[in-house]
Amino acid sequence: MVQLDKEFQLAEKSLPELKEGEALVKIAGCGVCHTDLSFWHYGVQTKHALPLTLGHEISGVVVAGDKKWLNKKVIIPAVLPCGECELCKKGRSNICRNQLMPGNDFHGGFASHIKVPSKYLCEVPDKVLEKYSLEQLSVIADAISTPYQVIKKSELEAGDLAIVIGVGGVGIYGAQIAKIFGAKVLALDISEEKLEIAKQNGIDATLNIKGLDSKAIKEKVKEIVKQLNAPKFGWKIFEISGTKAGQDLAFNLITFASTLSIVGFTMDKLEVRLSNLMAFDAKLIGTWGCKPELYPEVVELVANGKLKIDQFVQTFPMSKINEVFKNTLEHKYTKRSVMVPDFN
Ligand SMILES: [Zn+2]
Ligand SMILES: [Zn+2]
Repeated sequence: MVQLDKEFQLAEKSLPELKEGEALVKIAGCGVCHTDLSFWHYGVQTKHALPLTLGHEISGVVVAGDKKWLNKKVIIPAVLPCGECELCKKGRSNICRNQLMPGNDFHGGFASHIKVPSKYLCEVPDKVLEKYSLEQLSVIADAISTPYQVIKKSELEAGDLAIVIGVGGVGIYGAQIAKIFGAKVLALDISEEKLEIAKQNGIDATLNIKGLDSKAIKEKVKEIVKQLNAPKFGWKIFEISGTKAGQDLAFNLITFASTLSIVGFTMDKLEVRLSNLMAFDAKLIGTWGCKPELYPEVVELVANGKLKIDQFVQTFPMSKINEVFKNTLEHKYTKRSVMVPDFN
């Protein structure tokens, strides 16, 4: 990326020199995330000055550096913590203040190779590669790991009702993971197409909320809860749409002993009565990314066939990056795009 909203340019560089604790990864695939669009189109500043190679949803093969990792197929966590600081030591490495993010703090994954710290690489076992190509697995680095962390953090248990607001690129995995955890899952969205995909993937119930107000939605949710024979209280609500309307609805769905998890992001503000949390003895939590320590668990979900990914991923040659970003901005894709290097 050379400039805001301008076409990406192909640049040739010599391979970087490696220090101890670093690895050179030959990139298999790099997913296109909304965060990349924020940098490229919406004017969010990258930490590293431009020009910068974007991309933080990366899989590949280690081709140089740290011997322990040589020739291993890996997923590079989207957030690489330091492992030493107060937050890291408290098990909150995903918000480590010294964290490095590819395609933001340093040159990222829309490239043939990337230099990364090797400490938190996640190895991809061969049994996963029997099911999926390494490039498809790049989506684990962000689109799948983020909802995984929040579902753990919400303490979702088997038999709970999980309400997922927004079943797009991230939410569809959130809904599936909640299902794997044994919850009864209700998906809410304004896109019939996305709800249909959720249904086809075993989500218990869906509700198209287009044009409905919070009150009407809450009534419909209560009916669905009855039909599903789901618990009346203690709902685990996941706001993944990242919209003001979605957040407003999410807050209004809070009932006794509920936990509302905020996963989507918007700059918009909301007016709510926070005392509802007190009255309902409810919890409101946020979540940021996923700590690398959880990645092997996520890979295992894919490896054992519980979580399916191929139908939500579409690969493109990396040379088409300008076209793919433009189309993503115009919401032309329903699947997550993964760019595959087609230059050497
Ligand atoms: Zn991302
Ligand atoms: Zn740290």
